[in-house]
Amino acid sequence: MASTDTLPGHVDVLISGAGPTGLALGLDLARRGVRALVLERQDRLAPGTRGSGIQPRTQEVYEDFGVLDAVRESGGTYPPRGNWKNGRMVDEQVMVESSDPTPATPYGTMLMLPQWRNLEIQYARLTELGGTVAFGTGLESFTQDADGVEARVVRADGTARTVRASYLVAADGGRSPVRKALGVTMTGQSVAPYPMLLADIRLDGLDRNHWHMWGEFRATDFVSLLAPAKYDYFLLMAGFMDPGTVPDTSPDGVRELIAERTHLTPDQLGEVLWSSSFRPNAAMADRIRAGRVFLAGDAAHVHSPAGGQGLNTSVQDAYNLGWKLGQVIRHGAPDSLLDTYEAERLPVAASILATSTRLHRSGDMRRGSDLHQIDVGYPDGPLATERRTGPADGGLRAGNRAPDAPCITPDGTPRRLFDVFRGPHFTLLAVGDAEVAALDGELVRTCRVGGPAPDLLDSEGHVRDAYGEGVFLIRPDGYVGYAADDATGLPEELVRYGVLTAAAR
Ligand SMILES: Cc1cc2nc3c(=O)[nH]c(=O)nc-3n(C[C@H](O)[C@H](O)[C@H](O)COP(=O)(O)OP(=O)(O)OC[C@H]3O[C@@H](n4cnc5c(N)ncnc54)[C@H](O)[C@@H]3O)c2cc1C
Repeated sequence: MASTDTLPGHVDVLISGAGPTGLALGLDLARRGVRALVLERQDRLAPGTRGSGIQPRTQEVYEDFGVLDAVRESGGTYPPRGNWKNGRMVDEQVMVESSDPTPATPYGTMLMLPQWRNLEIQYARLTELGGTVAFGTGLESFTQDADGVEARVVRADGTARTVRASYLVAADGGRSPVRKALGVTMTGQSVAPYPMLLADIRLDGLDRNHWHMWGEFRATDFVSLLAPAKYDYFLLMAGFMDPGTVPDTSPDGVRELIAERTHLTPDQLGEVLWSSSFRPNAAMADRIRAGRVFLAGDAAHVHSPAGGQGLNTSVQDAYNLGWKLGQVIRHGAPDSLLDTYEAERLPVAASILATSTRLHRSGDMRRGSDLHQIDVGYPDGPLATERRTGPADGGLRAGNRAPDAPCITPDGTPRRLFDVFRGPHFTLLAVGDAEVAALDGELVRTCRVGGPAPDLLDSEGHVRDAYGEGVFLIRPDGYVGYAADDATGLPEELVRYGVLTAAAR
């Protein structure tokens, strides 16, 4: 546990909460050289399996963060659902739909990784990059003025101190104390008044190759038991059709519930590692920027667990905000760049919330490829500059996710576009004969595909298939910012991101 004496008195960004959102943001800022401090009021990372579905788009983000290998080693794929009746498994159903990987989309399956392990992996990477989490240290209150935020930070032993930051990010979960202090309202609803119980439990008597299910989600008092790949326990999810139920989360209560609702006997039920209960909600904040304070993750939107979207949407909030804070704090980009966080992410949150609420109400626990978040983008947002005279109908547009494409270097070494994009920089991608002046440095790297002096050869045509020809500025979070036939509009574009000063344009 950090002593408040060892906390810095001033940081660029103070992040409240070391859940998946706070850690992702802390990690992204650390690799950008932004001085950030993550506060976590608990004295350790949160236990529990909770959000275990890592969607393909989040896998791409994790690849960029340098944690995808660890995620794959620690995770696995979801098994089919096995439906039990009268002590027999009567049928099987595919729960998670996969798509085949393609040159443009290398990951096609949702991975299963317990949230506690996800947090460990992100935390390890954050510290490797020089970032800091102060455990056992909560944000108690804050004020903001024109230049920054002043936060009162308190340890469990009651010692307190003030930390000043240029910006504060609330990654403090669905009950977000920061959101409440700002008076930002959540618009939404309880998607169902029925409580749910979650627990991680060791048990015998079930195979680990099925998502075992007794009863029907949302239709009966169901129970499901899912074994996370590579771990020696099961995740219990149980629903209660009586809205007045207060689930018993004690170890005995958890074991009794399983013994009542399944064919498993008490002697087969072992240690309860973690348990919790909640009522599914669907709501989002009316705004996610208030001056120098931003809301991200569950602090900005809470989901039903149906569809496996909450954690993924949270990580992607962090991914959208991280580079914008980096450009403003370290490279003098205009403050208006930070307004685009809300403009881009609120519509995404609204659309994803609508999907998870619909799935919850339908009782559909299946997770289809429409939930992979690969199609999330910002083509109607304020940063999308589409200048090509003839982009193909239905083809890539500015604001879309920048696809991957396997290529080779002129000496024949395989190299993917994602290898070129990986890191905190922008990429200036020139496909075909379009001429661009090379911009290579900390902030931008240039990659010419084809043309007279290529960096990469599009030997199988995957880049042209995905992008067509032209000049593309790929943002650090892997979206196409600028798409044009030539580089004429590029200087203006680079000024808005703080990559070029207006004077140098
Ligand atoms: C049953 C269930 C299943 C789910 N399944 C999925 C799934 O398959 N896929 C998916 O994407 N999502 C899923 N989710 C959702 C996912 O768990 C959440 O969306 C995710 O945890 C949100 O992360 P967060 O970092 O925003 O908030 P949290 O994880 O809630 O973290 C907030 C952190 O802030 C800390 N904190 C709070 N106040 C303060 C303070 N004042 N000072 C310092 N620290 C503070 C808390 O201690 C906590 O550690 C599921 C959730 C549930 C309940």
